[in-house]
Amino acid sequence: MHSTSQTWRVGAATITRVEEQVGPNDLPAGQFLPELDRSRFARHLPWLVPTHYDLESDRLITSNHSWLIRSGSLTLLLDTCAGNHKERPWLPRFHQLDLPFLERLEAAGARPEDIDIVLCTHLHADHVGWNTRLENGRWVPTFPNARYLFSRIENEAWDPDVGDRRRANPGRAGMYDDSVLPVIRSGQAQLLEGEHAIDGILRVEPTPGHTPGHVILKLLDESGGAVFCGDTIHHPVQVCEPDWSTRFCADPVQARASRRQVLEHCASHGSLLFPTHFAAPHVAAIEREGEGYRPRFVHAA
Ligand SMILES: [Zn+2]
Repeated sequence: MHSTSQTWRVGAATITRVEEQVGPNDLPAGQFLPELDRSRFARHLPWLVPTHYDLESDRLITSNHSWLIRSGSLTLLLDTCAGNHKERPWLPRFHQLDLPFLERLEAAGARPEDIDIVLCTHLHADHVGWNTRLENGRWVPTFPNARYLFSRIENEAWDPDVGDRRRANPGRAGMYDDSVLPVIRSGQAQLLEGEHAIDGILRVEPTPGHTPGHVILKLLDESGGAVFCGDTIHHPVQVCEPDWSTRFCADPVQARASRRQVLEHCASHGSLLFPTHFAAPHVAAIEREGEGYRPRFVHAA
């Protein structure tokens, strides 16, 4: 059976995965991870195939999901997938989708009006889509009562009205216009500088590299806590090979440093890693191994 939502508990918090889609990437593995070394990669195949890597097509398999986090009286949605009806011809996997994401969110226990906070780890197309939905031909915020948290640096890096960007990359400008701008115009966006405490246990921290203003969310408590790492770690093989950045990392060297920082935090505090793109079982504890780390997958409750 294909399950589209699952729940984990960390301390007093409840964390539910809301799936948009799982499948092979558009690019071969060596193009997605340009530093991929074939002989090192071969060592990981026994645990990567078939869930995390399709041998026949040489495609890494990734999920796109949101994390619904309930902590105290707060309901938070972390990353909002690719969204429906978005015009993304340069990203075939995210172009003009029509998927029952909001129905799955409701099955996970939250209607759009229940979301208090939306946090986008960064402003790539697969993390901002459900920020908005199409209503009578207009893009409107999907979550009417939510505060949307974005990094100020990240917002400036994508704002299409800086310099010549709108003319130079109309597709990217359109993405900002349909998924970020409506939230800024409605007054629901809050731009974060540096670290930001959401409540007593949830803290946003900068982790630049994948994008200039990428952030992660840490859940800090005595149980060891959790890290919602966005795209600092895209695929589980990067846990073992933390120096392999993706071709989508704006600064691959800085991305590597942020990746190692996240993995080291998890290994030394016993924090569970909740990435946005790992296929099943989606969540892992992190153990040190050699010069890297190794994932110990943790199934939903
Ligand atoms: Zn992503």
